Amino acid sequence: MAEQTYRGRFAPSPTGPLHFGSLVTALASFMEARTHQGQWLVRIEDLDPLRESTHATDQILHSLTCHGLIPDEPVRFQSRRHNAYQTIIDTLLQRGTAYRCACSRKQLLAHQGRHPERCRNGNSVPGDRPFAVRFALHDETSDWHDELLGEQTQTVRAELDDPVILRKEGFYAYQLAVVADDIDQGITDVVRGSDLLDMTAQQQQIYRALGAAPPRWLHIPVILNEQGQKLSKQNHAPALDGTQPSRNLMTALQALGQQPPVALERSGTNDILDWAVRHWRRGAIPLTSL
Ligand code: GLU
Repeated sequence: MAEQTYRGRFAPSPTGPLHFGSLVTALASFMEARTHQGQWLVRIEDLDPLRESTHATDQILHSLTCHGLIPDEPVRFQSRRHNAYQTIIDTLLQRGTAYRCACSRKQLLAHQGRHPERCRNGNSVPGDRPFAVRFALHDETSDWHDELLGEQTQTVRAELDDPVILRKEGFYAYQLAVVADDIDQGITDVVRGSDLLDMTAQQQQIYRALGAAPPRWLHIPVILNEQGQKLSKQNHAPALDGTQPSRNLMTALQALGQQPPVALERSGTNDILDWAVRHWRRGAIPLTSL
């Protein structure tokens, strides 16, 4: 059987401008796609209007362009995919693979994660109480292979770990939307930050429930700030200096264990990316936090 064409993606949530950590992730996924003669897509995961802004979306897209990271297809926005997510949720509910849950966080905590109202049995949610929809996991110890980190073992617990797929506020949740879109966009290889590593076994179950084979995964170590915290928008990581895209790319390549010649910094972003594609060594990416 012919190898499927590699399709990768970068899928930021627009909670703030692109920072150094997200540039490293974007660059790693771009490099992996290019070195596999594959396509590279960008998807904006704008599911939570309370935490995200179109301003941040514009900043991220502009910043990617400045760094020469141009996707091969039009950018996808999850905010335009609600109908698709709802159709999937309806199907899962009908099949009993998802269930309505009006439990509060406090109630779940008080019952060690069990649902006092036995939501998993498909009891209808009484009256007009707001409810979430959760995916019904089954108990599983999943052994899977990460393309960088090697063999992984993760345990998934039915009921206790069941992820919300539609939030009480009416917003579709990451766990479902990411899988739905990776399937719909034919993504063969997910390269992302290792802060999402723990999500993977649950996502594998969602892939199977949607009748699709899981992709390959490659998790790259997260970038830490000087205080040892993950560089993230929540920790107020500074936006990238848009006036220095070549320097940013060089620093990101170094963080990924690559060794671009110092003089390359005087080149434009396209030359730096060309060099990086020709010299990319996945095995040089450090395995621990950068
Ligand atoms: N949207 C997620 C984030 O910004 C990434 C999703 C993924 O790569 O699976 O953290």
